[in-house]
Amino acid sequence: MHGKILLVEDEKTLAKALKFSLEKEGFKVEVAYDGEEGLKALELETPDLIILDLMLPKIDGYEFCRRLRRSSDIPIIMLTARNEDIDKILGLELGADDYLTKPFNTRELLARIKAILRRAGQADQGTKKTIRMGNLQVDLIRHRVTLGDREIPLTSREYALISFLASNPGRVYSREQLLEQVWGYDFCGDARTVDVHIRHLREKIEEEPAEPRYILTVWGAGYKFKEA
Ligand code: CA
Repeated sequence: MHGKILLVEDEKTLAKALKFSLEKEGFKVEVAYDGEEGLKALELETPDLIILDLMLPKIDGYEFCRRLRRSSDIPIIMLTARNEDIDKILGLELGADDYLTKPFNTRELLARIKAILRRAGQADQGTKKTIRMGNLQVDLIRHRVTLGDREIPLTSREYALISFLASNPGRVYSREQLLEQVWGYDFCGDARTVDVHIRHLREKIEEEPAEPRYILTVWGAGYKFKEA
């Protein structure tokens, strides 16, 4: 696997161990030990993915994300402590693509990196069409979702989820299947992640998020996109 990764982590021992493991897998890894150094590294070179610790000296992960997201959608995997606000991390304000709670298994981190990079590669190829349902339009070329005339701001993961569901209207997917298809996890994903993203999507695209018209819950089974 190829790709450039920027690792922003102030725990030197962890940073070194991760750099070693990632390089063994074929990645090129740049390490920054605080948020300021991380933002500087981005001025010199654009990585394919950023692994970002949340608690950092000088500029923390929250602020780092906010600044980065003003101008860039480089995928971010956030490293968090327990009890962080997952909604906020994955939500539009910070827009991380994924998170891992410390301590984590390096294999799991690798699986998530590969899934994100694989999806980014697939997204580049693009399918040439727009999906329309009621007022909702999903433009699969431009990666834009509009409701009537209004463009809906989505995180890259929210877009990946709605474009997948909308491309397969009427098909019911379990949380595990969505983790596999949209997140690309082959094992032990956290089903809560799916629910959080569905909730965010509904808040953005549904008139009545509690009574959704587009993304429907199939009790005991999972979710589906409304059939035409
Ligand atoms: Ca830290």
